[in-house]
Amino acid sequence: MGDLINRERLKALFLELVRIDAHSRREAAMAARLKQELESLGAGCEYDNAGEKVNGNTGNLIGRLDGNRPGAPPLLLCAHLDTVVPGEGVKPVVEGDIIRSDGTTVLGADDKSGCAIICEVLRQLREHRLSHGPLDVVFTICEEVGLLGAKHLDLARVRAREGLVFDSDLPGALYVRAPGAFSLLFAVKGLEAHAGMCPERGISAIKVAAEAVAAMRLGRIDEETTANLGLIEGGRAVNVVPSQVTLHGEARSRNEAKLTAQVEHMVSCFKEAVARHRMTLEGRTFNAELDYSAEREYPAMDLSDDAPIVRRVIEAARRVQRKVVPAAMGGACDANIFNGRGLMVANLGTGMREVHTLRECIDLNDMVAAAETTLELVKLYAAA
Ligand SMILES: [Zn+2]
Repeated sequence: MGDLINRERLKALFLELVRIDAHSRREAAMAARLKQELESLGAGCEYDNAGEKVNGNTGNLIGRLDGNRPGAPPLLLCAHLDTVVPGEGVKPVVEGDIIRSDGTTVLGADDKSGCAIICEVLRQLREHRLSHGPLDVVFTICEEVGLLGAKHLDLARVRAREGLVFDSDLPGALYVRAPGAFSLLFAVKGLEAHAGMCPERGISAIKVAAEAVAAMRLGRIDEETTANLGLIEGGRAVNVVPSQVTLHGEARSRNEAKLTAQVEHMVSCFKEAVARHRMTLEGRTFNAELDYSAEREYPAMDLSDDAPIVRRVIEAARRVQRKVVPAAMGGACDANIFNGRGLMVANLGTGMREVHTLRECIDLNDMVAAAETTLELVKLYAAA
C-alpha cells in the first residue's frame, strides 16, 4: 500500500522542470517538455488559444488520457506552468530530501511540484497497467498574473467536471474554500483654486476622499472578509486646492454576499462624501464628482465537504494511511476560476513552502504523499 510512487523518478523530473525557465507569458518551453511527457504516457495533447488572448508564447496545454474502465467518470488534474519573478536560471540545491533554490531565485516548486506529481501518477498507471477512468490533465499558463490561463481555458476540450488543482503547501490539506475578490478604483474630482488667495472657491478632492475613507470599514471586516485601500495619489502643489485624487483598493471574502455588500459599502462611502460637497459661485453650482470601477478579479471558492471530489480525496488519503482534511485558504488559485465556471475542483497541497520568496523549498516526502493520495484517488474514480 502506498509505496508505488517512484521517489527517485519524481525527484528527477521535478529537478529537471525547475531548471526550465517559465515566467508568466513565457511558458512555451515548459509546456513543450510536459507535452512530450504526456504523449509518452499515451495522452493526446493540444493547446488552446488562451496564449493569444493574454499575449503569451503558448496556450494552456490539455492532455487527454482515455480510460480503460468503461463508465468511470472523468477526472481533472491541473497545475500551472508559470513561475513568479525572479525565476529564471534556477539552480536547485538538494540536501537529502529537501530541495531549495540557491538563494538567487525562487525555486518554482510553485507549481512545478504539481506538474511533476501529475506526471508521476500517470506514469504509475501506465507502468502497472492500473485501471482508471478518463483523465484530463490541464497545465495552465499565467496563473501568477491573475489566473488568466484558467479564465481563458477552452472548457469544450475538457471532459471532466471535477478534479484537483495541485497548488498549495500542505499535502495534508485539501483547500475547498478561498476568497473571491474585487479590484476597486475611485477617482474623486473637486475644484481647483488658489489655496491662499481664495480657498473658498475650491473643493478639495483630498478632503472629500478623506471623509469617505474615514467613514469606511476597512481591514478585517469579519472572519471571512477583508478590505483595503492600498494606493492613493492626488494633488498638484501645496498651494493649490486639489481637484483630483485617486484611490486603488480591494475587497475579499469567502462569502459572495458579504463580498458584494462590502464593495457596495465602499462605493456608498464615496458617494455620500461627494454628495456633501457642492457650492455656488457667481450663480453656478459646482459638485464634487466620483468616477469609480469595481472589477471582479475572481469568484470565491466554496466546495461542500460532502462534494464527491472532497469525500473521495479524504478516502483516498485514508487508504494510503495518510490524512487529508478540508481547509480554507487566504489566496486564490485556478480552482477559484474553475468552480466559478461550474466545475467542482479542490486544491491539494504538494509540499511547496515559502513560495514567492528566495527561500522557497520543498520536501520530497510531501510530494510523494500528494502523489500517493492522487494515485489512490484515480483508482477510486475508476471504481465509481
Ligand atoms: Zn501556484
